[in-house]
Amino acid sequence: MNNNSNKNSTSSSDRCLWIPGPLIVGAGPSGLAVAAYLKQKGVPSLILERSNCIASLWKLKTYDRLRLHLPKQVCELPLMKFPCGFPTYPTKQQFIEYLESYSEKFDIRPWFNETVMHAEFDDALGFWRVRSEGKAGMVTEFVCRWLIVATGENAEAVMPEIEGVGEFGGSIKHTSLYKSGEEFRGKKVLVVGCGNSGMEVCLDLCNHDAAPSIVVRDSVSTPKS
Ligand SMILES: Cc1cc2nc3c(=O)[nH]c(=O)nc-3n(C[C@H](O)[C@H](O)[C@H](O)COP(=O)(O)OP(=O)(O)OC[C@H]3O[C@@H](n4cnc5c(N)ncnc54)[C@H](O)[C@@H]3O)c2cc1C
Repeated sequence: MNNNSNKNSTSSSDRCLWIPGPLIVGAGPSGLAVAAYLKQKGVPSLILERSNCIASLWKLKTYDRLRLHLPKQVCELPLMKFPCGFPTYPTKQQFIEYLESYSEKFDIRPWFNETVMHAEFDDALGFWRVRSEGKAGMVTEFVCRWLIVATGENAEAVMPEIEGVGEFGGSIKHTSLYKSGEEFRGKKVLVVGCGNSGMEVCLDLCNHDAAPSIVVRDSVSTPKS
């Protein structure tokens, strides 16, 4: 999202809509939690989500064997507890179901397939102007007093530039596209990065009889005390 007040500021839009409450960008856990809290305080809001569903990171960009990496007590959203039967590390599916129930409970209805491209604060008007492109290419300008950016820290895949990578004959995949080690059965795989995902993917590859190696540029990533 571009919030530079000069760039694109003269682009035209197909329609202009006034939003009486805050506009939230992103229907991941953070955007849902903010919308629920606002609703509880009687404040209407609107979520714009570029994907076609809530929790798109969890539904579309994570591997099959994923469980929450952190214990459930630190991952719960406000105002609604996890079901009491949840294990300490809920599965990805359990977490997704919880998020679906959460948005149902608070009747959160994001506008899907809306990609926010540009936001700028109009000093003269005293409001935000937020430009979003819908699936059919329709550009909408939303005018609102409050803008809440909940676009996540993992929503974009980051591929490092690796010298000589163009000469590599095999396939290269970011973990956001990795689903299971099944497709790598019997193959040699190099996993780059030794954080939670890298290590778990390595284990998954072992469980599917692939032959993984893992490289890390520094020390193994551990929380700093
Ligand atoms: C493998 C893995 C394991 C993890 N385990 C845990 C865990 O155990 N516990 C934990 O707390 N966190 C964990 N995380 C971190 C994860 O970031 C959070 O769980 C959570 O998804 C963050 O929620 P969010 O709403 O801030 O961001 P996201 O879930 O990333 O949601 C952001 C949303 O914004 C949308 N968006 C982005 N840009 C735009 C735009 N321009 N216009 C419209 N929509 C846009 C995206 O499509 C997305 O739906 C894990 C992450 C990964 C990848």
